[in-house]
Parts: sequence; structure tokens; C-alpha cells
Amino acid sequence: MGSHEHSHEHSAAQPLATRIQHMTGLNPLKCYQCGKCSAGCPMATETTTRPHDVMRLVARDQLDRLTDADGLWLCLTCETCTSRCPNGCDPARTMDALREILAARTNGKNHNAIRAFHRSFLTQVRNHGRLFEMGLIMSYKLGGGPMFADVTTTPSVLARGKLGLAPHNVKGLEEIRRIFEACAAQEDGA
Ligand code: SF4
Ligand code: SF4
Repeated sequence: MGSHEHSHEHSAAQPLATRIQHMTGLNPLKCYQCGKCSAGCPMATETTTRPHDVMRLVARDQLDRLTDADGLWLCLTCETCTSRCPNGCDPARTMDALREILAARTNGKNHNAIRAFHRSFLTQVRNHGRLFEMGLIMSYKLGGGPMFADVTTTPSVLARGKLGLAPHNVKGLEEIRRIFEACAAQEDGA
């Protein structure tokens, strides 16, 4: 842990794109902003920072703006953006690296909030087969998360009424539960 943090501190003076290239082996500066990644992103309509915006902010070395980028924290890691990129940029992996950089940078402070957020998100999907945002917010707060201020602007999703205020279970819920059980069994066995 100590040496990991040290390496981040050591590299903090480097441009963000260089740091990410060291972590992923991919050069974010190759992105030519065609937007194909965002066109396929399932979260693009719910976020103000879509995958191609994230790539642009990386190229412009704007780590501070990325700290508050909702798209970074609402990303589902589905990798659709990566599979659509005609240029081999891998926005999904880039976002992974960014979350790692930001978690190390805040010395674990935001990291706990982010973990609480993801745990709450997955709990909602497991129980209802979809995101139930009031449940997400309550679960997040109970899990120790300081509301969304540090993590995301998700309430805008609520305001636009894109998602219901009450949980509606989806068809195939049993299948979703089986997937979670299989994942849990794998983790136990690891
Ligand atoms: S990451 Fe790829 S798909 Fe997205 S804007 Fe850049 S070049 Fe286009
Ligand atoms: S991995 Fe994240 S950014 Fe990429 S398409 Fe999926 S949700 Fe969108």
C-alpha cells in the first residue's frame, strides 16, 4: 500500500495522460473525439460527462474536473464504449485508472464513499433487477456515504423522471439473483 501510494505521489507531476498510459499501456491522447463511445454508452443520457468527455478531460489534464465527473462514478463498466472505439482507446479501462488515481489522491477519503455507492447500487440491482434510486440513496446513506456531494450528481436523474420513484421488479429477476449468487460463490471460493 505504502509503495503504491508513493508511486502515485511520485507520478503526480506527470501529465494525466502519461500517468494513465503507464497504468494501462494505452495512450489516451490517441482519442480523436469521434463520440462513438458515448453513442453506445447506456449511462450517457443520465450523465453530463460521457466517455468521450472523460477522454477529452484526460487529454487536457483536467483531473480536478474529473473528480466531480458524474459519468466516472456512474459508469457500469459494461465496456460498450471500449468495444465501439475505432481507435483502440479503451475508455472503460481509462476510467478504471482514473478512479484508482482519484481514490489514491484523496487518501482513501472518497474511496469509502465510492465503495458505499457501488455497494448500494449493486444491492438495488440485486433486489429489484433495476436501479431503484430512492432505495439507492437511502442504502448509500445507511452504508456511511455522505449523500452524493462528493461522488455524483445523480439526483438530476431523479429530477428528469427517467427512473421511477418506486421499485418495479423486472422479468428475469430470478436470473439476476442467480448471477449475484454465482459471483458471491466465486468470491468465497477465491
Ligand atoms: S475514445 Fe474512441 S470512440 Fe471515444 S471519442 Fe475517442 S476515438 Fe472516438
Ligand atoms: S463502460 Fe461505462 S462509460 Fe463505457 S459504455 Fe459502459 S457505462 Fe458507458
